[in-house]
Amino acid sequence: MQAITILGSTGSVGVSTLDVLGRHPERYQVFALTAHTRVAELATQCRQFRPRVAVVGTSAAALELQGLLRQQGLSTDVLYGEQALCEVAAAPECDIVMAAIVGAAGLASTLAAAQAGKKILLANKESLVMSGQLLIDAVARNGATLLPIDSEHNAIFQCLPHDYKRSLPDFGIERIMLTASGGPFLTRAVETLDSVTPEEAVAHPKWVMGRKISVDSATMMNKGLEVIEAHWLFGAPAANIEVVIHPQSVIHSMVSYVDGSVLAQLGNPDMRTPIANALAYPERIASGVAPLDLAQIGQLFFERPDFARFPCLKLAYDALQAGGSAAAILNAANEVAVQAFLNREIGFRMIDQLIARVMDSVSSAPVTDIAGLLEQDRVARAAAQACITS
Ligand code: NAD
Ligand code: MG
Repeated sequence: MQAITILGSTGSVGVSTLDVLGRHPERYQVFALTAHTRVAELATQCRQFRPRVAVVGTSAAALELQGLLRQQGLSTDVLYGEQALCEVAAAPECDIVMAAIVGAAGLASTLAAAQAGKKILLANKESLVMSGQLLIDAVARNGATLLPIDSEHNAIFQCLPHDYKRSLPDFGIERIMLTASGGPFLTRAVETLDSVTPEEAVAHPKWVMGRKISVDSATMMNKGLEVIEAHWLFGAPAANIEVVIHPQSVIHSMVSYVDGSVLAQLGNPDMRTPIANALAYPERIASGVAPLDLAQIGQLFFERPDFARFPCLKLAYDALQAGGSAAAILNAANEVAVQAFLNREIGFRMIDQLIARVMDSVSSAPVTDIAGLLEQDRVARAAAQACITS
């Protein structure tokens, strides 16, 4: 029996994780669940999964949750705040940590899990994009394991040799091919993009996800963050990571070998597949995902991404090439811009313009420690905010 902490259990990935766990009660028990604000949903999850600890964002939310849990006769300990997230990620009672908080808010708890040597299922791509080598080093130094949940990276993980170690040439690999659906605006006239609404931007054609990643998919910043994520996870240079648009989202990514072989992982677009894969690795367990019916799908299409339509993808490649804290600056500017777009403070096309401006005005520095990284994050956020209010 393995015990798991789910950071961000009320989110899209968190709920899918609980769905998979619920199918295998003989293998997994829940040690801790965490949510930021959705207290009633967290209380319902606690009733079903009986965690030892539940964590929320504020003392007021903690009081509310405690009231709900006591009404139900549950004795779950209730904690709040970032320190508590780090504690449940590092607790000796827990074996596996699902890092499924959205954005930079997930950085500290993901690092805490790495420092405690946990098996980390990484959905929170922003933490790796920001901290890069620092997280990779913390994982290696403390004997932790980092397994990708992002469907593309999980697909690549499945297509790599099982003893793969962070060097494409050593394993006869020529290139990693990340597939991208292209999001909701793949064919929409570019000159009309500035008038898209948050509702249109979050209506992803293939995946049901949280609002932030849905907007990132519409701008293709999500794929840009994934290029950076692939760089750190697999030790792949930017020049060997290609993005291919594949609107059906059936092939989740590919690995191209020097002998001309291309290995792909296919499946219905449902996060429960990568979650089940990483949870049970190297075993296989049922996830609840329906088998793939290729004859019913009929055709698969591919095209190259257009940087004029998707400037955020180019900005992410540029940040990766620039190195240092450039990816953290990109991520911070993107988080501020996406929130402002969702709040209807800026138009859709302002997202990429704002990020480009912040990348120009905040200079990248070497990333040597977390304090320095957080300072770069803070400066980039302030610069992004200034673009919105100016
Ligand atoms: P979501 O918005 O649905 O859920 C986010 C979760 O994080 C919630 O449980 C929320 O309570 C918690 N949270 C939000 N802000 C927080 C804060 N400040 N402090 C603590 N907790 C906070 O997001 P999601 O779609 O589940 O995505 C989660 C992560 O997984 C993201 O990094 C995303 O890029 C990645 N991811 C998601 C999918 C997907 O299909 N949804 C696929 C691949 C990767
Ligand atoms: Mg993905």
